[in-house]
Amino acid sequence: MKRDDSIQQIKERRDWDLLVIGGGASGLGVALEAVSRGYRTLLVEQHDFSKGTSSRSTKLIHGGVRYLRQGNFTLVRDALRERGYLLRNAPHLVHDLALVVPVYRWRDLGFYGSGLKLYDLLAGRLRLGWSQLLGRDEVIRRLPTIKVRGLKGGILYHDGQFDDARLAIDLAKSIAARSGVVTNYVQAVSLLKNGAKTAGAVVRDMLSGEKYEASARITINATGAFADHVRRLDDENAPPLVAASQGTHIVLDASFLPTRTALMVPKTEDGRVLFAIPWYNRVIVGTTDVAIKEASLEPVPLAEEVDFLLRHSALYLTRAPTTKDILSVFSGIRPLVSAKKGPTSALSRDHQVLISESGLVSLVGGKWTTYRKMGEDAVEAAMKTGRLEPRSGTDTRALRINGSALGQPALTDSLHPALPVSREQVITGVQEEMACTIEDVLARRTRALFLDARAALEMAPAVAKIMAEELGRDEAWQREQVESFRSLAKNYLPSSVAR
Ligand SMILES: Cc1cc2nc3c(=O)[nH]c(=O)nc-3n(C[C@H](O)[C@H](O)[C@H](O)COP(=O)(O)OP(=O)(O)OC[C@H]3O[C@@H](n4cnc5c(N)ncnc54)[C@H](O)[C@@H]3O)c2cc1C
Repeated sequence: MKRDDSIQQIKERRDWDLLVIGGGASGLGVALEAVSRGYRTLLVEQHDFSKGTSSRSTKLIHGGVRYLRQGNFTLVRDALRERGYLLRNAPHLVHDLALVVPVYRWRDLGFYGSGLKLYDLLAGRLRLGWSQLLGRDEVIRRLPTIKVRGLKGGILYHDGQFDDARLAIDLAKSIAARSGVVTNYVQAVSLLKNGAKTAGAVVRDMLSGEKYEASARITINATGAFADHVRRLDDENAPPLVAASQGTHIVLDASFLPTRTALMVPKTEDGRVLFAIPWYNRVIVGTTDVAIKEASLEPVPLAEEVDFLLRHSALYLTRAPTTKDILSVFSGIRPLVSAKKGPTSALSRDHQVLISESGLVSLVGGKWTTYRKMGEDAVEAAMKTGRLEPRSGTDTRALRINGSALGQPALTDSLHPALPVSREQVITGVQEEMACTIEDVLARRTRALFLDARAALEMAPAVAKIMAEELGRDEAWQREQVESFRSLAKNYLPSSVAR
């Protein structure tokens, strides 16, 4: 996957079947579905793949236990089916995760136990394992740092866990391997029109500043929290569709929950679920839900969110974490669908596909787990416009995702004593995965920034040097890169939290 080759293709070709705008879970899902059906497909991402929400999730491939409480069984069943496909299609990145719900009131044991049994049943043959009631001692064995006072027992159940940004990179590679063209750092700046019909976009290479026309029979807006912005490029009076909600996670040292089992709290004081999940030898605690006015690519965690996460961690863990213990803090923006009406075909309550009068297809809402189904629904809606000759979808087995797991090099071979990031990973990122900046390498090709922001900052000069050798850049480039990474990484340090 080479960026220069993709740019060359954008310059030379004017006959795309599909132009996909946005390189997060939604856009990558659409593009993989489209190339699998043999459509000539171009995907442009204005920053890096998964720079938006898609690198900032809770890292669960799940049906969504909380939807059970809302009685939304179809949604849960569909997501559990997708969970099963994803475990099969990307076994190098998605694995079975055991989660335990600790119970402090006898009546909750039956309540949550029966809910999770239903969860097992909804998964059908794609079940990862049966849920089980656990005695108090077994809960303590599974979660050694759980608060034991009043603990009655617990329920163990299964979901999938993954590395979101790595999955995005591997999806991009899989699209390229099937002759699709994908590129990062290319923004759709305006839409091309053929009469009243949308017919592609003018795109700008954000690294060179050059602009090109990418004509396409169908244009798909898969820009997540930015979907309304692109819809207004099509129709300046398009009503708002996306309600943005921010969710934040804190990352702690593994000693706060030294186990491979995750802790799931089914009901916090604001009625949400909360997870503490082991991930790459750290613990991720999240998340929150705060309505925000304006979506940004680099959302800033709020003090109230961090306080909420620390307070709830302290309710369940024997050692109460403090701000000083936070290794990294990151926020993402949920692109929730706020309007249910319009010239639309509502394909699911979780995600929606809308087709504007000009034929612009917008895919909004959804979640990582259902990215494949979202892609399928968007491509099928595009076919229904009559601008693409219908082609049948592939069997879900054929959507195998190329790639290998993020290696965990020995710390002795690492660029930093606290995090396993190797020279080879940096080189692979640049040569094969379109990494253009230190941030691309440390935030998404490896997960250093999300796992330990200070360590990531400290290794930035070494990463800049390796990248400069690969890209033929000088010392001024290295200095500028380190400076810009430094100002970004501050957002991930607890001291930067907006108070
Ligand atoms: C806190 C939180 C936790 C979550 N946890 C989970 C979880 O555990 N499991 C799960 O399944 N789901 C989870 N989700 C949901 C999931 O992460 C999102 O639904 C998904 O990542 C959204 O993907 P997207 O592609 O729609 O949006 P994004 O990832 O934001 O991608 C949109 C992309 O479009 C690009 N873009 C915008 N405008 C343009 C333009 N003009 N030209 C080119 N590119 C453009 C942006 O740069 C961006 O990269 C979570 C969400 C949040 C917020």
